Amino acid sequence: MERIYLDANATTPVLPEVVAAMQPFWTERFGNPSSAHAGGQRTRSAVERARAEVAALLGCAASEIVFTSGGTEADNFALAGVVQPFLDRREPVHLITTAIEHHAVLYAAQSLERRGAEVTYLQPGRTGVISAEELEAVFRPHTRLVSVMLANNETGAIQPVGKLARITGTHGALFHTDAVQAAGKLPLDLAGELKNVDLLAISGHKMYAPQGTGVLFVRKGVDLTPLFHGGPHERQRRAGTENVPGIAGLGKAAAMAKAWLGTDGPEIMRRRRDRLELGLSASVPDAAVNAAAVPRMSNTLNLSIKGIDAERLLIALDLQGISASFGAACQSGATEPSHVLLAMGLSPAQARSSIRLSLSRLTTDAEIDRALEIIPAVVKRLRSVATHGKAVQEDGFLSRVFPGS
Ligand code: PLP
Repeated sequence: MERIYLDANATTPVLPEVVAAMQPFWTERFGNPSSAHAGGQRTRSAVERARAEVAALLGCAASEIVFTSGGTEADNFALAGVVQPFLDRREPVHLITTAIEHHAVLYAAQSLERRGAEVTYLQPGRTGVISAEELEAVFRPHTRLVSVMLANNETGAIQPVGKLARITGTHGALFHTDAVQAAGKLPLDLAGELKNVDLLAISGHKMYAPQGTGVLFVRKGVDLTPLFHGGPHERQRRAGTENVPGIAGLGKAAAMAKAWLGTDGPEIMRRRRDRLELGLSASVPDAAVNAAAVPRMSNTLNLSIKGIDAERLLIALDLQGISASFGAACQSGATEPSHVLLAMGLSPAQARSSIRLSLSRLTTDAEIDRALEIIPAVVKRLRSVATHGKAVQEDGFLSRVFPGS
């Protein structure tokens, strides 16, 4: 069975060109970039080339790029790096973030809260978007950092980060954005629309580079306390010998993303997602698209399907060859409803009936056609099981999927 991968917001495959860019750094070009000899200097130049490629994607200076082990580290670094020094000095410190952040930000904020920071969690309302007015209303004299994600990983809703960062600047606080889901999919310009953003996190494995790679953009002049202590790597900002193959891969992926953004690729992806969305809306009764009314990532579709248990639906889809998920990959297997959908005002039952379908650059029209055949049929079967019970299970398929139900 040819599988259909509709879970690109969880992770993306590493592109062959990216693998090829990484390959030499495991074998003949293995030098430590901190070594003064020729072998070390050759890997140093590869790291610096990758830094320039990532900077070109983001519209910033190469010196503002800090390589990390992924999006989670970059987010933790941004939050703790700003807030912790105030806690250390026992000075009041207030952080503003949102209830719809990825746990990499949410749990980092909660950890700082336990250590004495004041934290405000902005609610998005039904649209899934944080409003400038609500942000404006919650600043305190000692607000030091605002962290609002660029695009939500579950709904794809794009936040008005340029505007929120501008407002934050007028209050003398720093602005961080988790751009993990946006980088490589949307044009990002830290010298233009995002010029008031001070810190920005990206992750390699959401943009066709390997898992365990990432970046924190740190605007020139912003003083961050490092998370790690050790050598003077990354201009004293992130100790530890660089993951050279991963960094080379991330640089290549950034260059490829920049090129892709200049083609009709994003528009083609949007058309495929829209076709999936319109097709499912027409063929699956009582299906509602979440964050439908706001600007959204062109690859993401979050669907609540009335009366359907999303966990059962995802298992059934998996058996039919479709990989999809709840909102966040880390929630798989958990019974907790999505904190993002709850924050948007959905009931726990609605949140538990929601799935996320996310396309990659490699998703084809033929895969969308197949998904449009399979998903409505599986939903129909699940609904008839719910209505007619055991009689419908006799086809064997469902009794394999849900033994004993
Ligand atoms: N932020 C967002 C919005 C994400 O979607 C993810 C991963 O799902 C992360 C942060 C964490 O990134 P990483 O997996 O590279 O640690």
